[in-house]
Amino acid sequence: MANVGFIGLGIMGAPMCENLLKAGHSVVVYDHKLKKSRSIPVVDRMVRAGASPAMMPREVAAQSQFVILMLPDGPQVEEVVLGSEGVLEGTKAGSLVIDMSSVNPLVSQKIGAACDVKGVKFLDAPVSGGEPKAIEGTLAIMVGGDEQAFTEAEPLLRVMGSTVTRTGPVGAGNVTKLANQIIVACNIAAMGEALVLAARAGVDPANVFDAIKGGLAGSAVLNAKAPMVLSRNFKPGFRIRLHEKDLRNALLTAESMKVGLPLTSLVQQMLISLINHEKGDLDHSGIVMFLEEMANTVISKGNAINATAH
Ligand code: NAD
Repeated sequence: MANVGFIGLGIMGAPMCENLLKAGHSVVVYDHKLKKSRSIPVVDRMVRAGASPAMMPREVAAQSQFVILMLPDGPQVEEVVLGSEGVLEGTKAGSLVIDMSSVNPLVSQKIGAACDVKGVKFLDAPVSGGEPKAIEGTLAIMVGGDEQAFTEAEPLLRVMGSTVTRTGPVGAGNVTKLANQIIVACNIAAMGEALVLAARAGVDPANVFDAIKGGLAGSAVLNAKAPMVLSRNFKPGFRIRLHEKDLRNALLTAESMKVGLPLTSLVQQMLISLINHEKGDLDHSGIVMFLEEMANTVISKGNAINATAH
């Protein structure tokens, strides 16, 4: 059993940490909400499950062979690892930092290089699957880093995920995650266009979904998101503002290599508009709302308007 530090106890981090505790690991936890209040419910929950709390990242690192991060984006990861009270102020040479947040791959490379200087190993290991799979311990985990560090981390990662794949050196995990996020966002937008068209053409979008889900247009995204849209359930899952962050990171990474991502940039503009209309905390299936607004048509079961006169 390992001594593990876990930093960032949000929608994803909390259940991932709970799975490590259930597997019998010793876990020290920290979330910056602890700076505002000495007792916060999620930390209390982890302590009841056997974790010990720490008051800063440096304290977590001093007690841990492995330090796992699950934070919103790159700026938070940089602060937690490189800051004056950060992980690198407390880690011992030979320990391993695993950043499971979804961040710009260039940030992963910067953090990896800073760890290297201190003799600390580093992996970027973002995840796909959302809260239900974080709870079940069946996330898909995509890892960047050297093979030896990957082999060392794999047993811990297998507690949190059912697919654990090394895709290349440091940064490759987040390149893979960006690819995942592009495919998911563009799929949701395409589904929105298709079902708005169906509704306006007088065909029930629920019937269209049933008819096409077994054919070539069928996908895991369609199966997960079409039922949510048809029943007008936009409770997050994965928030629109976090998906906008991922597409922004994809565009920044692409721009640094002069790669064009025209579809991604179009969908990112839709996400920005939704955030400006107070929809940033809805599930990303809400991308369809941008297209509904353009057509003045709602995608819902039974809503088929014969609009050929327009
Ligand atoms: P979240 O906002 O629920 O959790 C983030 C946690 O980090 C919060 O508890 C917050 O208090 C803490 N935090 C923020 N800044 C901190 C700091 N400087 N020091 C210490 N703690 C800090 O986010 P989430 O949904 O759990 O997502 C975490 C990461 O996982 C993101 O990068 C996200 O893109 C990615 N992700 C999320 C999902 C999902 O479905 N929610 C799925 C796959 C990947």
